[in-house]
Amino acid sequence: MNINECLSYDDVLLTPQYSNIKSRSEINIGAALDQNHNFAIPIISAPMDTVTEASMALKLGKMGALGILHRYNKIEQQLEMAREVRKNLPEDLPIAAAIGITGDYMERATELINGGVTILCLDVAHGHHVLMKNALSSIKDRFADKVHLMAGNIATKQGFKDLAAWGANSIRIGIGGGSICSTRIQTGHGVSTLQSVFECAKISKASGVKLIADGGIKNSGDMVKAIAAGADMIMVGSLLAGTTETPGEVIKNKDGHTYKVYRGMASKEAQMKWRGKTSSLEGISAFVPLRGSVSQVVNELSVGLRSGFSYSGARNIFELQSNAEFIRQTNASLSESSTHILKRQ
Ligand code: IMP
Repeated sequence: MNINECLSYDDVLLTPQYSNIKSRSEINIGAALDQNHNFAIPIISAPMDTVTEASMALKLGKMGALGILHRYNKIEQQLEMAREVRKNLPEDLPIAAAIGITGDYMERATELINGGVTILCLDVAHGHHVLMKNALSSIKDRFADKVHLMAGNIATKQGFKDLAAWGANSIRIGIGGGSICSTRIQTGHGVSTLQSVFECAKISKASGVKLIADGGIKNSGDMVKAIAAGADMIMVGSLLAGTTETPGEVIKNKDGHTYKVYRGMASKEAQMKWRGKTSSLEGISAFVPLRGSVSQVVNELSVGLRSGFSYSGARNIFELQSNAEFIRQTNASLSESSTHILKRQ
């Protein structure tokens, strides 16, 4: 049997390149999903019920990033969120919302598109599936190019090729890498997100179908690596969890520390809430500390992105992807790569 290797963010580094960029203001970290959907910041918030509802989508939209309204509710509730975003965002800014690929998905898609949504995210755990094929083709049949279709998740070259052929305009890459994900433990399946990005990038560039790296991004350094490897945009959950704009109660412990819940959509807690029963448990629920406004978090990530582009001598995503040179790091190098003074003996 031929067994391939699987590189993750911590397995690699980008080597610094010659730069003639004198100021980081010369750097454009913007990205596009298609001709009508341009973003100043290449960050997308995950369609999860502890991450993206109207307040997150609005704040990110105003900053030039993107939030995808989750689908774990009644159509009317999701539509209400979309309407709230549409009233409060300038007309030319996109609204994105997730749907499934079974049950009421077509009714949901229709209502959302009529409500002003211009990016539909066909959001399932295993997107390389005949039901995805059917859903993409029936939505394409009905709405043609009226809406951008983001689809996923997938982890392989073949998955990327197939979803692109079935009509996806952008594809979410990443199976099993999310911070709250237990898919690999429960099922033995998955591919490191960075490895999937490496493998799918060529097809993405040749086909024009955009690639979104999703799951397991821990910091702006991982974002720079994902984009350098070929991603157009980055989807994050945990990095935005605990901000003011996420849904959910603020919980105070006996020491006065404040938290919010961040949970996988396949966790027991989330499944019980949205469908009243559980099937395969492939996520966990966690308390994360409150962190203030998402604007501050996204600003810090953007600063890190700009600095990362600058180390590769790149003024934009295209230059980053052309200039990037990856090296593998050893465990000793990984340990050196983290701040390590406190680990010294
Ligand atoms: P994070 O940014 O590492 O926290 O990962 C967020 C991503 O995890 C989401 O965008 C989804 O692709 C994925 N995800 C969300 N819920 C679950 C789950 O319950 N199990 C596995 N993956 C999940």
